[in-house]
Amino acid sequence: AAKAAGRGALRAFDNSMREQMLLRDRDERALRDAITAGRIKPFYQPIIDLSDNRICGFEALARWEREDGIVVSPGDFIPLAEETGLILELTESLLTTACQDAMTWPGDILLSFNISPIQLQDPLLGVRILRILSAAGLPPSRLEIEITETALIQDVRTAATILGDLRTAGITIALDDFGTGYSSLAHLSNLSFDKIKIDRSFVSSFQDQERQEKIVKAIVGLGIGLDVPTTAEGIETANQLASLTGMGCTYGQGYLFGRAVPAAEAAIMLSSPHWQDLASGQDTTATTRRAQ
Ligand code: C2E
Ligand code: MG
Ligand code: MG
Ligand code: MG
Repeated sequence: AAKAAGRGALRAFDNSMREQMLLRDRDERALRDAITAGRIKPFYQPIIDLSDNRICGFEALARWEREDGIVVSPGDFIPLAEETGLILELTESLLTTACQDAMTWPGDILLSFNISPIQLQDPLLGVRILRILSAAGLPPSRLEIEITETALIQDVRTAATILGDLRTAGITIALDDFGTGYSSLAHLSNLSFDKIKIDRSFVSSFQDQERQEKIVKAIVGLGIGLDVPTTAEGIETANQLASLTGMGCTYGQGYLFGRAVPAAEAAIMLSSPHWQDLASGQDTTATTRRAQ
């Protein structure tokens, strides 16, 4: 009887496995079709220079606009793209579009682009990126590649070589989500980065937690000491902005300034007089912007 029960359980397990695989197949096909059809596009979130509160760049954030109008976030498809290897095609498509969009911006506006951890194991990554840049006509100096800390753990040597190649070509390298990964400080000393992005989790809660604010201050101080500019992610309130500016944080990003928007809206943001007003410290402008 125990044996039979065991067989039954095994059959149930088999069935659920098969179901899982079918679901995955279906999802993979949907993702592949979306990439081919160009339904996954970069949206753009402004990055602000905290010395004058002006836009100095945009971070490209992938958005999947489904046929039914629902917009899917990268957290829901990037992992599958990584597992299936579709990330290669997706990156190719997203970066191509992003470079074309960036070509319509003023020459001093940077494009920040996220690269998946596993892509740092691809020795051809540098070549692929440079080829896309040159096809679009975007100078490497206008591209910033963002890498999360976890990215570097598997094979630090390969990662270091790829990052070195990119930097030699003139591309900026930013360490994303700083403070959340493993051995952050080891990475800072073993690999060279041009920018540190302080994770949103430290920034968004520091208003109510004195401790968080001290951590952010310490990271900003680390950046100043290493002569590496810092970007604070997830700025949502004028108080947070004031505090970060006071600490000497270099750049800021967050809903206070704006969420990720389609390319056409990003272009409007660049020409909008609202952003000039922000420089004079009128927080009302940012609030209006956020409410839109
Ligand atoms: P990330 O690079 O750290 O991007 C920041 C995330 O925080 C974005 O989420 C952004 O929409 C969100 N965010 C920005 N400001 C605020 C704020 O003030 N408050 C709150 N609550 N959230 C804010 P998103 O777009 O869902 O992206 C999630 C992650 O997916 C990104 O984290 C990045 O690691 C990854 N990702 C996005 N686009 C791509 C891509 O094209 N390729 C790859 N490989 N990864 C991507
Ligand atoms: Mg990022
Ligand atoms: Mg981040
Ligand atoms: Mg992240």
